[in-house]
Amino acid sequence: MPSYELTDAQLLLLDGKCDAKLQTEVDRAKQRLDIKATIGDAPEYIRIFVSAVVQHTIQEGVLHYSWTEVHYCRLCNRSAGYHKYTSTTRYHTKGEENGKRPLSWIGGVIWGDSYYPKFEFCPECEKQIMPLLKVAVAELHVELPEKLTGVKPRYLRSDNQHCKKCGWTGHKLQLKRQAAIMGGWVHVECPKCGADRNLFSHDVETVKGFVTVDVAKEINPKTHSVDWSES
Ligand SMILES: [Zn+2]
Ligand SMILES: [Zn+2]
Repeated sequence: MPSYELTDAQLLLLDGKCDAKLQTEVDRAKQRLDIKATIGDAPEYIRIFVSAVVQHTIQEGVLHYSWTEVHYCRLCNRSAGYHKYTSTTRYHTKGEENGKRPLSWIGGVIWGDSYYPKFEFCPECEKQIMPLLKVAVAELHVELPEKLTGVKPRYLRSDNQHCKKCGWTGHKLQLKRQAAIMGGWVHVECPKCGADRNLFSHDVETVKGFVTVDVAKEINPKTHSVDWSES
């Protein structure tokens, strides 16, 4: 039988869904994490959802979590409803819902890899998701949003790059920074030959795959890049 090492956060996701022996371990993990009250309240669909988000985050190397308007929550199957007519006319009565004017909540959204909103949920579900998700992803070496953790990301996802001019391959944060036209900085310049990516040149291209960078250990605070030298 294969054996696995699970973190406390991962054990937590098995709560109530495993045999008695493993449940003992889950209970210990809950005590260590001291969030018994939270997990005790979370319905199974929330736990399954959090588990899926953890998998998604590992695959993507980053978790995009922000706010958005949500009219219908597919997690708890509730709608925010519609504006109601304020007066009676020939076509509708006062108090009747106007199907053309949906109401929405400010809920949470977890974006997919191409910034396509993948999962949206209402504020009630968000209240249950946040504490579980926070604990479940805490030990992952992935880019986590400040909205979830309360601190600047400790790791950054950096997409793989290839320079067509000199053949260099590396990742985005190894590219040299240039001032961006719209303000701020962008990593665009090949550290080996100086070719760059702009409106006219596509010598440096983003290719499949990524690495995650430890900000404190790997990012040079002077250049805001990961140092690269030819070995
Ligand atoms: Zn919901
Ligand atoms: Zn190059």
